[in-house]
Amino acid sequence: MVHQRAINLQGSVAQWADELEAADPQAICAWAVSTFGDKVALASSFGVEDMCLIDMLVRATPTPRVFYLDTGLLFPETYALADAVAARYGFVPERRRPALTLARQAEHYGDRLWERDPDACCRMRKVEPLGQMLKGLDAWITGIRRDQTPFRAGARVVELDGKFGLIKINPLVRWTTGQVWRYVRQHRVPYNPLHDQGYPSIGCVPCTRPVRLGDDPRAGRWANLDKTECGIHPGGAPPA
Ligand code: SF4
Repeated sequence: MVHQRAINLQGSVAQWADELEAADPQAICAWAVSTFGDKVALASSFGVEDMCLIDMLVRATPTPRVFYLDTGLLFPETYALADAVAARYGFVPERRRPALTLARQAEHYGDRLWERDPDACCRMRKVEPLGQMLKGLDAWITGIRRDQTPFRAGARVVELDGKFGLIKINPLVRWTTGQVWRYVRQHRVPYNPLHDQGYPSIGCVPCTRPVRLGDDPRAGRWANLDKTECGIHPGGAPPA
């Protein structure tokens, strides 16, 4: 069923991707909202890219749909930022939680699963709750950018998400880190203070480290492990 839906959408997605390739991210957000209404939502980790997108979505609609995956292991600064979004923009981001609490996960799979099997931990705490959320949507918005990883270099503004069976919209795909921060300064967008403390990419506490100046911005995610993505976005080796 998901596969058939994806095949039916293929022509439209390719056309939208071509038409929107040169569009401004703000215009892409407005297009997403006018095209999909309340069937499109931003998946936010409250990273700096997502904060820009929240700001842009609010300019497109007073009631944007924004959700986040609360693994139970986010930084206190991230939870505080979720509250700051509500205060600044006047809507409460939707919190999606895993089926198992951390205590139940430890009972079933052992304590600190992220150290022994981070893929299983990410699957239960991020990918499965995301899949549940996406079942009720026609499209989702993400903050991925082409210059973040070799795999993301091939991302398009509008794509078919074959894994979850819906449309994926990446308004910032052409932007650089510099453009993201320029937008933050220009519009006084709130952001996670950890970004100023050596954390360019912020996930769960046990799997996120600060990086040194000049390091790959995602080097602090699952440091010392052969893992670069949680399974939400395609990853691994760059496509041929
Ligand atoms: S990032 Fe780490 S702690 Fe968070 S869900 Fe994945 S493995 Fe678990």
